[in-house]
Amino acid sequence: MRPVVLGVCPAAIPAAMALLLAPQAPLENVAVRTCADPGMAQQALPDASRTAAALLLTAGIEVRWQPCHASPAAILVFLSSAGAEVKAGKCGRARYGSTRGTGLVRVEVNCVATVAFDLSRQTGNPRLAMPRHADLTGAVIAHEIGHLLGLRHSARGVMRERLGLEDILALRDGRLTFSAQQSATIRASLGRDADMAVRRPN
Ligand SMILES: [Zn+2]
Repeated sequence: MRPVVLGVCPAAIPAAMALLLAPQAPLENVAVRTCADPGMAQQALPDASRTAAALLLTAGIEVRWQPCHASPAAILVFLSSAGAEVKAGKCGRARYGSTRGTGLVRVEVNCVATVAFDLSRQTGNPRLAMPRHADLTGAVIAHEIGHLLGLRHSARGVMRERLGLEDILALRDGRLTFSAQQSATIRASLGRDADMAVRRPN
């Protein structure tokens, strides 16, 4: 099976779940400007952004999304509709900015769709046979933003190097999250206290 990528359906993470996972301490605010190729489906960007926001909330990050034409923000997310080639199983990449917490995230949405299609064909799992994969794209966005906020890859969760079938199903069940340690690392990297208590489900 082709190891997957990071990246899918906003409805999978209900708002109530996002609130349940949210830290009790004040959230960190991060401004993220979003742009997409003109040919992209109208709803792709907002749908992906919603999933990315729900995932980042589990790390204590509240995203302030800004339109493409807004003044420069700390992080720029660009959704590309370039080729569907899957390069080394990766559909997203992050380029660090001049300071921690800044930079560029680029996600190839057709690459994400290819990976999802391959997985659905290989596993026959009907939950992967979806016409759109904005939630998977949102997971890729959250993963790459995690890098810009100081995180490295981890064995599980959003920061796993390559999401597998189980991760995608976890995403669609609202069980894919950042860890409490990753939340603390982000706060430390942003120069805040790293001992924030994070409430998580058992
Ligand atoms: Zn990564």
